Amino acid sequence: MSANPMSQRILIIGSTGQVGRELLAALAPLGSVIATARAPELTRGVTPCRALDVTDLEAVRATVREVSPTVIVNAAAYTAVDRAETETELATIINAIVPGILADEARQLGCALVHYSTDYVFDGSGTRPWRENDTPHPLGAYGRTKLAGEAAVRAAGAAHVILRVSWIYAAHGQNFVKTMLKLAADRTELRVVADQCGAPTPASLVASATAHILKQSALQHGAGSPADAFRERGGTYHVPCAGETNWHEFAEEIFRQARIHNVPLKIERVLPIATADYPTPAQRPHNSRLDGTRAFEQFGLRLPDWRAALAAEFPAIAASFRGGAA
Ligand code: NDP
Repeated sequence: MSANPMSQRILIIGSTGQVGRELLAALAPLGSVIATARAPELTRGVTPCRALDVTDLEAVRATVREVSPTVIVNAAAYTAVDRAETETELATIINAIVPGILADEARQLGCALVHYSTDYVFDGSGTRPWRENDTPHPLGAYGRTKLAGEAAVRAAGAAHVILRVSWIYAAHGQNFVKTMLKLAADRTELRVVADQCGAPTPASLVASATAHILKQSALQHGAGSPADAFRERGGTYHVPCAGETNWHEFAEEIFRQARIHNVPLKIERVLPIATADYPTPAQRPHNSRLDGTRAFEQFGLRLPDWRAALAAEFPAIAASFRGGAA
């Protein structure tokens, strides 16, 4: 038990990713953050960061034991959806085996684990937003490995929270927003899929939602670890931005924001197309809507509408785009 609920010892795995990098700042007020990354230099010295390649499974266990955290937050993942179809073994290690090992270590230590999963565990059928207890049925290897990771976390018996998120973007890293801006800088016309629905969600909001849940959980148990609270109300939660859109409409909104922020664009026309007109190695779900009701009921967590979230994020995106940041 920590003496002060705000003095957690937080081990972040995968600090260079979209969510990982936002977690560094969002979780800092909750205690001491120990960051790890495959390539620590990529955190650009924001936080001292230890080297950890999670495919070294013994190193994963050794790091957790050495750091002895009160909370582990696993932001590392294999997220290349199409490449996962052929690199399935590597995706399985990172997305399925590693979360199980972290959960096993968390159980042994009595610490809490936060892990992230995806809308891609569902097959995209139907029209209503997916609820946490709906039956998953992934369409591709990425979704299957993430679903296996969820199962491994649950099976290990640690106090955990799994946050399923969707359509993540940030000023840093690879994502749809930056891809659209790069393409629109050179082309006058783009064709964008209009029959996949979901809620774009900035990584910063995933990180602040994580901080909110950890803070509430620590406070709920006075001077306790969030593990105590997770044993009572842990489990799986959907954390999407409010509202819904499709990739075509999202692209149009990105270009509208870009014009407001004077990002130079050549784009004149954005044509809606069907998924069938844009074949990819991995099949994508048509309905990626996630129902965030459970996170609201348990933690009072409600993210803003996706358009407002994009507008709030855009100054940083525009700055990184102009500066050519990664
Ligand atoms: P990113 O792809 O931006 O980041 C993944 C992180 O995992 C990077 O820090 C990467 O390190 C790290 N990583 C990959 N392989 C290894 C390894 N062998 N050893 C150590 N670290 C490694 O992912 P996001 O931040 O977008 O995703 C966060 C979570 O959200 C993940 O669980 C993901 O599955 C989930 N999610 C993401 C969505 C999205 O649209 N991106 C949608 C739905 C869910 P490095 O920088 O060195 O590559």
